[in-house]
Amino acid sequence: AETLLEVKNLVTSFRTAEGSLQAVRDVSFHVDKGETLCIVGESGCGKSITSLSVMRLLPSNGTIESGEILLDGEPLEKLSHEQMRKLRGNKMSMIFQEPMTALNPVLTIGYQLREPLLLHHKLSKSEASKQSIELLKQVGIPNAEKRLNQYPHELSGGMRQRVMIAMALACHPSFLIADEPTTALDVTIQAQILDLIKDLKDKLNMGVLMITHDMGVVAEVADRVMVMYAGKKIEEGPVREIFENPQHPYTIGLLNSVPNVDDPEFELEPIPGNMPGLNEKITGCRFHPRCMFAMDKCKTDVPPEFNAGKGHQASCWLLDKEVEFVDNNQRKIT
Ligand code: SF4
Ligand code: MG
Repeated sequence: AETLLEVKNLVTSFRTAEGSLQAVRDVSFHVDKGETLCIVGESGCGKSITSLSVMRLLPSNGTIESGEILLDGEPLEKLSHEQMRKLRGNKMSMIFQEPMTALNPVLTIGYQLREPLLLHHKLSKSEASKQSIELLKQVGIPNAEKRLNQYPHELSGGMRQRVMIAMALACHPSFLIADEPTTALDVTIQAQILDLIKDLKDKLNMGVLMITHDMGVVAEVADRVMVMYAGKKIEEGPVREIFENPQHPYTIGLLNSVPNVDDPEFELEPIPGNMPGLNEKITGCRFHPRCMFAMDKCKTDVPPEFNAGKGHQASCWLLDKEVEFVDNNQRKIT
């Protein structure tokens, strides 16, 4: 497959009263054309900051310290703010959890859909209106003509989310970032929206970067999965590999904390402990204070990325063939 987005060794930090704190720690990944990469992890793991870094939409106290971000081979860090703004309305788009933050409450849906078309595509007003209606139909909004004259508050949450997707797709982006796009919606609407994103991805051969904390959503839409913990990428692989053959103890914990609807006896096993705050100093593996497999080495040495099979990597000393250790059941593993 053809690479669309490539992120190399991204480090993003925040200036705070406590000094500079790293939210994203040397993270590398790619998104191919026509595929969905899901970034998963608990709130605060750096997944949203990673996507905001890519879009160059960090809060004002955030900076990309180092790393490279390439879209279609073009390094984004070299672009001016103006060029980046143009790119965001054109080649890359973003949808958020809360559509009201993306929609202007005092402007009609029609106005908000037409504006980028008039601006970027130099369409006439009637052509732009026609295309807006087309877009609303594409995202499954009934009575599209009527909607153009409505304001965001006149629509349901699910409809607003669809309008935001329509806006994001207006300029036929080749890259879509979706940050928890369905978290605020009920399950039926959530399934519809995820289907819609999948359909459009296939139709337009878009690359999609989906941010979520929900393994159910991952199972639904991901081609590949990247798991983040405390600012680090800890595992990455094809979605089936991650679900059927997870390697990192944190990923295994995440999967075990997903309720199993088919098995009423199944108990939720959340991972004991909390993710460290940005200001906490942790040496070695950042998961070691919570890891039931932690060895001495884990407390001092940062685990590198080990190969775990086809396109599957995990950063955990358990995968090091060189390390001899004894697990919790006192079996010696070499
Ligand atoms: Fe646990 Fe060590 Fe692996 Fe970290 S490197 S996840 S502490 S076993
Ligand atoms: Mg978030």
